Amino acid sequence: MSKVKKKVKAIKIDLDKCNGCRACEMICSAFHANPKYSSNNPARSRIRVIHEPLKDVYLPIYAGEYTKAECTGRDKYVIDAKEYDECDFCRASCPSRNAFKEPDSGLPLKCDMCEDDPPQEKPLCVQWCINDALTYEEREEEVEEEVKVEDVEIGLGSMVDKYGLQKVIDTVARMAKKE
Ligand code: SF4
Ligand code: SF4
Repeated sequence: MSKVKKKVKAIKIDLDKCNGCRACEMICSAFHANPKYSSNNPARSRIRVIHEPLKDVYLPIYAGEYTKAECTGRDKYVIDAKEYDECDFCRASCPSRNAFKEPDSGLPLKCDMCEDDPPQEKPLCVQWCINDALTYEEREEEVEEEVKVEDVEIGLGSMVDKYGLQKVIDTVARMAKKE
């Protein structure tokens, strides 16, 4: 596979600075609402702040790739003598939990670095984090040319997993008739 230069965008997360204000969740869900800024439901946010009260930590996690496969194991992390479940750190939209799924449709959510129309110069969650827990970085890397799977294909795949192929086909056929 050939190599290409790619601009890599990254958000550095400093847990020590996060106080769990959830401004990042609010602005992300508002930016991705339809119409834009018409609602701010954190359940629709592409960043979720996981709170572990007994461990006194707020953990901002970005929505990553959709997967239809549930992990077969549950690894544990021990940090500063506190034990964390692997799922606490996981970015996937997967069958074993409700995180990173659009609440009404169940469609997977994924952070798009605020490249949605209109694209933002800096991710909005970074701009709204007044505690500087989130820092935006850009760098150039040489990567293998990726085969792009269309968002619509991922979305349809998750609908098929949830409702079954026949139901999705019937619904699309019904919608086509109405057009
Ligand atoms: S806006 Fe910043 S400080 Fe507030 S919850 Fe999000 S990451 Fe933490
Ligand atoms: S970068 Fe944009 S899309 Fe990603 S979590 Fe932050 S606000 Fe949401």
